[in-house]
Amino acid sequence: MAQARALARQIPLMYIMLVINSLVLAATHYGSAPDLMTVYIPGALTIVCVARLVFWWRRRNRLIDPVRARRTLNSMLWITGPLSLGFTGWAIALYPYGNSFQQSHIAFYMGITTIGCMFCLMHVRAASLLVAACVLVPFTLFFSSTGHAIFTALAVNMVVVVVALLVILLGNNRDFNALVASRSAMLQRQQETQRLSDENDRLANVDTLTGLPNRRSFDRHLAARLADAPAGGIAVALIDLDSFKSVNDIFGQITGDRVLIEVARRIDQLRRPSTFIARLGGDNFALIMDGPTSETLLQVCGDLVCSALRASFDMPGATIHLTSSVGFAASSVDDTAETLFDRADYATSVAKRDQRGKTVVFSERHAQEISKVRMLEHALHTADLDKELYILFQPQFDMVLKRTTGFEVLARWKSPLLGEVSPIEFIPLAERTGMICKITETVLRKALLVSKGLPRAMRLSVNLSAHDIGSATAIENIAAMVESVGRPRRIDFEITETAVMRDLVQANDALLSLLALGSRIALDDFGTGHSSLTHVQRLPLDRIKVDRSFVADVTHDTTSRAIVKTTIDLCRNLGISCVFEGIETEDQLQVLTGLGGSVMQGYLFGRPMREEMVHNHILTERRDWGSEPAQVFGNTG
Ligand code: C2E
Ligand code: MG
Ligand code: MG
Repeated sequence: MAQARALARQIPLMYIMLVINSLVLAATHYGSAPDLMTVYIPGALTIVCVARLVFWWRRRNRLIDPVRARRTLNSMLWITGPLSLGFTGWAIALYPYGNSFQQSHIAFYMGITTIGCMFCLMHVRAASLLVAACVLVPFTLFFSSTGHAIFTALAVNMVVVVVALLVILLGNNRDFNALVASRSAMLQRQQETQRLSDENDRLANVDTLTGLPNRRSFDRHLAARLADAPAGGIAVALIDLDSFKSVNDIFGQITGDRVLIEVARRIDQLRRPSTFIARLGGDNFALIMDGPTSETLLQVCGDLVCSALRASFDMPGATIHLTSSVGFAASSVDDTAETLFDRADYATSVAKRDQRGKTVVFSERHAQEISKVRMLEHALHTADLDKELYILFQPQFDMVLKRTTGFEVLARWKSPLLGEVSPIEFIPLAERTGMICKITETVLRKALLVSKGLPRAMRLSVNLSAHDIGSATAIENIAAMVESVGRPRRIDFEITETAVMRDLVQANDALLSLLALGSRIALDDFGTGHSSLTHVQRLPLDRIKVDRSFVADVTHDTTSRAIVKTTIDLCRNLGISCVFEGIETEDQLQVLTGLGGSVMQGYLFGRPMREEMVHNHILTERRDWGSEPAQVFGNTG
């Protein structure tokens, strides 16, 4: 190809030179030689040359492929031989018609034109050689046979020059080939580098499991689409598979991967051409949609995704059922990629929390929720916990002993900025922001103070969070605080299953060090979390607190009743006690005692009360039940 390209530039020049030189030779012989020799033959040769010139001229800028380049070069070789012989024959044939000057002109014409042509053809070795052979052989033979010493000398000069020229051309030809080869090798390397860089780019932007764009690619697309779209023009959805972890746990990683691939396929099937789908990682997928983004439309889209993913996943050896929670958010004027993503993320967390398996579209209500949480966060962060936190006590009544045996300590927060804030709001917030350990410390300190003034048998139960259980330092602090009051120690602790689940070994260690203080451990809210028998069996528990949702239903719901009965039996078999929370009515109490329940907590026995009320409560109860003081203030602590 490089040869064909070089020739296309040089050959037209060669033909122009050849034609002009030949016509000049014909002109010097015009009149002395017949017209056939000075007009017709040179005319015919000129026509062939001009035709070839046009042919090459047209090709000079054309892109050429290897096949066509080879064909062009071959055709040129076929023409070079006859044409060289034609011109040589014609020039020699003119010799007899001229005088000495004209004959010298013929020799000069042949020599100089041959050198010129060989030069123009230097990139194609075969062509140069062919020209040299077709001219040099007849030239040398003819002029040495003329008998003129001058012409014989000319023939020798010609042979020497042409041979020297050939040596130079062959060297050039090699250099040319090497140059072309190195250039094409460089090009190949460049192409390979480009291919590798394209491949790297693709891998960096694709999720290898599902083949969908990954988080990185999603972030780039979101920023780009947001920049291009008019306000409210795009919407982002985050899709989160519910309880996908258990698919991996139960059916294994490979099946989990297959499910994810199928999830990606199902979502992809639903998409409009302009919708962008990505896997953000784990069981999280995301969509970027443009076009109308009304709340109703987004709800419909989300519902479509949810129902597509609700259909069973038929895997080899298992049929898996999943649900997915979807959160949608439409863009607004001053949105950045982060704020839009955060809103969709918030909608997904609301779906997961309140409407598992469904779609939540971010709305004004959610915006207000967020700003309220921000305010709460700020107020909690700047709160003087010692002053603002206070504790209430809710009695726990033993039906067998017929007396209150302890109180649950419940935290309350009265913020000077926001007023009374429920623990349902501030406890999860403190858990998220890591402030919960400080709260636990404050609550425990206040509870320890109160415990000193209580009868010896009266125990206080303090709630612990996942952070407390998960941190060895926090547990050490708690232990040090409890030990600092000396004996008797009357503090028990309540933990939830979610708190122990993260690290069962650390939880076990934490609980053992609390037990060593003489504290009892209760598993709180039993039945609402994972309710795993492993936890009940492996943790050093003293009691299980059955969640109040079961108590609320126990009078009319046979399932709740069966669960309550099973839990009572379980506790009896394990030799631990069972506490019921949230008893509000006599009916509930009757059913629970009928099933064998003994320790009760709920509004029926007393609402969470202040410290002063605790003493009243104990005294009143003693009077009402006519208990002997020794029974209440017994030295069992
Ligand atoms: P919990 O530990 O399960 O506490 C029982 C909750 O049920 C308390 O709500 C209590 O007031 C309420 N309750 C008790 N009896 C009844 C009843 O008969 N009917 C009804 N409807 N409710 C009843 P509270 O005080 O709002 O606490 C809510 C949750 O906040 C607690 O649930 C606990 O998880 C958390 N919490 C409260 N104080 C603390 C604390 O000091 N530390 C930690 N980590 N969590 C706390
Ligand atoms: Mg509790
Ligand atoms: Mg509870």
